[in-house]
Amino acid sequence: MDFGPDDFSPATLAVAAGRPERQPGAAVNPPIALSSTYVSQGEAGADGNFVYTRWDTEAWHAFEEALGLLEHAKLPALVFASGMAAVSACYTLLPNKPRPVIVVPKHAYHASLVLADELAARVGAEVRRVAIDETAEVIAALEGADLALIESPTNPMLEIADLVEVLAAARQLGVLTIVDNTFATPLGQNPLDFGADVVLHSVTKYLAGHSDVVLGAVVTNDAELRSRLAQHRTVHGAIAGPFEVWLALRGLRTLALRLERAQANAVELAARLAQHPNVVEVRHPSLPGDKGHERASTQMNGYGAIIGLRPIGGAAGADALVAGMRLWLPATSLGGVESSLERRRRFASESATVPEDFLRLSVGIEDVEDLWQDLNQALNALS
Ligand SMILES: *Cc1c(COP(=O)(O)O)cnc(C)c1O
Repeated sequence: MDFGPDDFSPATLAVAAGRPERQPGAAVNPPIALSSTYVSQGEAGADGNFVYTRWDTEAWHAFEEALGLLEHAKLPALVFASGMAAVSACYTLLPNKPRPVIVVPKHAYHASLVLADELAARVGAEVRRVAIDETAEVIAALEGADLALIESPTNPMLEIADLVEVLAAARQLGVLTIVDNTFATPLGQNPLDFGADVVLHSVTKYLAGHSDVVLGAVVTNDAELRSRLAQHRTVHGAIAGPFEVWLALRGLRTLALRLERAQANAVELAARLAQHPNVVEVRHPSLPGDKGHERASTQMNGYGAIIGLRPIGGAAGADALVAGMRLWLPATSLGGVESSLERRRRFASESATVPEDFLRLSVGIEDVEDLWQDLNQALNALS
């Protein structure tokens, strides 16, 4: 690598980072490296070469280098088998003590909350659930805590945390901070710049971007934390396959374009939805009346491409809206090129404080008029 994070804009880094060395005849893309083991003898790893793919493999390096640069990290990222493998690895950074305390947003990716509750049951951790956009409440909960998982915008309620204030307070109180940056992407915000210890991604979503990969990653500037996370990955076997990582790097190349279009679509659709008579509530940080609007405007680059929508008719109305779509896909997950939506409470594990009729819309890169026409006809059919 002959350039650093400050040499180019993020949109350029997403295209240029993680390429093979420029040599005559060299491929412009890394190969899909398929080898479970490497030629080695003597003390394993002593010569700095690869030994066994579960430890480390060149199949991961180009993507890890690119994501590290995009997140303004001094060290390469670490890829994991999934976003949840990354969350799980981060939770192991909790200190080994009688009643460790973990702070989580009350609305966050539901499996991250399920895993925190599992920690409570298994190792007696105290889990403090906070409204992540209520800064005083968050800082009070950080008192005496060991680890905080932060999402902003949150999944699915789109609350915006004051990352600067909260991360500064955590640092002062000695609380290790993990920021799940899946919704914003590294083009939307870089939490390491605000003082986060670790940033994590469900690469499955925007980074890979085509709903064909499940993958996760963590990024940190702290060499000791990075080596503990890498050790966890190795011994727990939470490793990524070479094909998935190659596809994720291919997806990353178009991240800036995809996000630009998806975010512009989301801004337009949120504004139109807010005017529709059959809509009870729309959430998108771009809306001037949204609670997170001002904070997102100063803290983020763009407002993300997820919209929260509550149509008339309660849960049944929301289900009817999903069923009435011709173009939008009824599906979970988000961040793909295709627009999709789902009623979140169809999952029994979703937080009970997420309204029953709350739909999470993942806005894709289709023509905005097609997306609107479909939403509008399905909404009109509700009355
Ligand atoms: C999807 C998601 C995860 C989990 O990632 P997987 O790749 O599905 O394991 C974690 N955090 C957020 C915010 C997510 O949206």
